[in-house]
Amino acid sequence: MLGHMMQQPLLISTLLIHAERHHGEREIVSRRVEGDIHRTTYKELASRSRRMAKALIKLGIQPGERVATLAWNTHRHMELYYAVSGFGAVLHTLNPRLHPDQVVYIADHAEDQVVFFDLTFLPIVQAVASRTKTVKHWVAMTDRAHMPAADQAAKVPGLLCFEELMAAQDDTFTWPQFDENSASSLCYTSGTTGNPKGVLYSHRSTLLHSLAAALPDALNCSERDVILPVVPMFHVNAWGLPYVGCLTGAKLVFPGPGLDGKNLYELFESEGVTVSAGVPTVWQGLLGYVEANKLKFSTMRRTIIGGSACPPAMIRAFAEQYDVQVLHAWGMTEMSPLGTVCTFKAAQVPLGQEERYAIMATQGRAVFGADMKIVSEDGKDLPWDGKTTGDLYVKGPWIISGYFKNEGGNPLKDGWFPTGDVAKISPDGFMTITDRSKDVIKSGGEWIGSIDLENIAMAHPAVAMAACIAARHPKWDERPLLVVVKKPGASVTRDELIAFYDGKIAKWWTPDDVVFVDAIPLGATGKMQKIKLREQFKDHVLPTA
Ligand code: AMP
Repeated sequence: MLGHMMQQPLLISTLLIHAERHHGEREIVSRRVEGDIHRTTYKELASRSRRMAKALIKLGIQPGERVATLAWNTHRHMELYYAVSGFGAVLHTLNPRLHPDQVVYIADHAEDQVVFFDLTFLPIVQAVASRTKTVKHWVAMTDRAHMPAADQAAKVPGLLCFEELMAAQDDTFTWPQFDENSASSLCYTSGTTGNPKGVLYSHRSTLLHSLAAALPDALNCSERDVILPVVPMFHVNAWGLPYVGCLTGAKLVFPGPGLDGKNLYELFESEGVTVSAGVPTVWQGLLGYVEANKLKFSTMRRTIIGGSACPPAMIRAFAEQYDVQVLHAWGMTEMSPLGTVCTFKAAQVPLGQEERYAIMATQGRAVFGADMKIVSEDGKDLPWDGKTTGDLYVKGPWIISGYFKNEGGNPLKDGWFPTGDVAKISPDGFMTITDRSKDVIKSGGEWIGSIDLENIAMAHPAVAMAACIAARHPKWDERPLLVVVKKPGASVTRDELIAFYDGKIAKWWTPDDVVFVDAIPLGATGKMQKIKLREQFKDHVLPTA
């Protein structure tokens, strides 16, 4: 027997309609590429998204076709999130930090028809515009007064102006109804081997993910919040926050190109930001600035940190020096991205501070909609005893079933998606990522988790950044090599760092050697590129003790 409830497809446009009707006056503030601080509202967002949808339809874009962006977090990017998906086309958020050759590969693979870009990325556009196969229009996300000069514009065939497209349309437009399983947006993962692969989200998966993401034990967002997503809108849809904005009516603050500590701090304070989100490397810059200038956060109370392991030392610094709670979260592009978030269960609330810190360092527990398990190499379920590590598998309605254009074939195993992460799970369901499976260090056949070793190094006062990689060893095959960037002006020796591990970890996990570098290469989403380090130190000779 069927239930007697309304059939309403879960479409992204319904989020926008809700925000316009119920949170119309709530603000969206952006630091723009033009240099100004721009203020708009959800009402205006809805109106301009309708106008832009009409402009795209007028350009000949059909539902299902891909419209790409090379853009910072700003109100114009948010308008495209709703305009493009709203009428059934697919928003493809290109990562502007990729090499131009990769941008060309991905734009061709996605068959992008139009690319919207921020002026910052004009050099990339100029480098790729004559090489892409399907792009018909390049749209500069600015007004006429700020358009590139004629000599620069000449290098971009089919160049259009965002505000002119917008101005040519009125906002009378009704969002079409269609199957909620239709594709809504596309994001490519930066695969460490082979070409990047596309993850094609649907309206349904996006809506379900947004509902779950806003929950108190997930990102915990409400109308009373002021959210500043530092995580880029080109990195898994800024973890869903542009959708959570419309869903909750929270005020949104977009940092545009200003991602350094000073710019971020100023926005946090001037806009009364309560919640932020980003990868650990961003917060390092911010904490460095705040510490150097002896500042405090007057409104910020929570920050979601994920994308790579958040060093426990950072969780502690935020809590003890700034009264900011870190919500450690784990996910991936293939998971829209949310999988786990670390919030306490009732039984843990009364625990002592040190035990609470130990829990906060885990990646947290499953959000409803993203189930997880750990399995052995032969695919058998492993126990949740907080000790046994295994391959982490996930399953749920916002997790990928196959890559765009079926690249790589069927990724699932018995209906579960193997994440490529290695993890352990405690009896009460708290998951700890110990490694990427390809980063794991295999010493004499036993696994050493590089994240633990990095976290310890990061707690040393002289260490700004640390990566632990496998170095070749004649007897043990691989042994841990610690690669360290020192804090400016700080000094520490190899032996001091090695001694720092004493008593903190099983003796045989201690790194065999330490090398100091000026910088650790970061990938397009701000994560350490250990693959490059492994290449750089592939001939490193470990000391024989
Ligand atoms: P991406 O698809 O670029 O977001 O990368 C996803 C990968 O980032 C995951 O599979 C993990 O290896 C890593 N990752 C994300 N969040 C965390 C976290 N909190 N701790 C450790 N690794 C993480």
